[in-house]
Amino acid sequence: MNKEKFRQLSGVEITDEQFVQFQKLLNSYNNWNSKINISAIKDEEGIWEKHFIDSVVGYKYLKNPAKNILDMGTGGGFPLLPLSILLPTASFSGLDSVAKKLKVVQEMARESGIKIPRILHGRAEDFAHNPKFREKFDIVVTRAVAPWPTLLELTLPFVKLGGEFLAYQGPAILDDLQTYKNLEKKLGAKIIKVHQDQVGKNSRVFVQMKKVQKTSKKFPRAVGIPKKDPLK
Ligand code: SAH
Repeated sequence: MNKEKFRQLSGVEITDEQFVQFQKLLNSYNNWNSKINISAIKDEEGIWEKHFIDSVVGYKYLKNPAKNILDMGTGGGFPLLPLSILLPTASFSGLDSVAKKLKVVQEMARESGIKIPRILHGRAEDFAHNPKFREKFDIVVTRAVAPWPTLLELTLPFVKLGGEFLAYQGPAILDDLQTYKNLEKKLGAKIIKVHQDQVGKNSRVFVQMKKVQKTSKKFPRAVGIPKKDPLK
């Protein structure tokens, strides 16, 4: 990988310093991934394309400027860490129920010279009812966290009024958007745009939403219910 190829694949221009941070992140990711399994993607090209570039593509659709950004279900730190490289002045938080992944996310940030994100360890169903976090984020991003109706219920309560939600999805979301048409309205959001991209061989779809009304305090429902009994 080099800066020019990075730009061609992602559509985003980065500085030399940012490119160095990505290279450091690659080394750190490889080290940690060989110790504890954070992701099945282990080859260098796969890491650049499926983790780094894929995370960066969404940058183009982020409402600007954003101060407080949450990656809900960040896992091994995607899209959190690449977006933090691109937006060094924003405050990032990463939420996940798996503590060991969050620890590694912080270590990878430290080792790559990325501002250390705030870590929220626990279930989205609980955090979303905590007044410190409910409707407090300018932007929430998610990638590969849950089926669509579950994802909307878990995520939209975190988004501020006037703030945005950007969901990194695969092409199957186009069917889900038909099946669950207007479900976002029930949770206080409206779809602004559905962006379709090609990242290497992969078709990617970004659903961009805006929070236009507060979410009813009923949502999200208790831990596990949003997945077991998804909204319709
Ligand atoms: N966003 C990352 C990880 C995806 S795996 C990436 O794209 O690589 C999905 C992650 O979401 C897992 O780490 C899982 O622990 C987390 N997750 C799923 N449901 C959750 C919930 N209700 N509360 C908190 N974390 C959740």
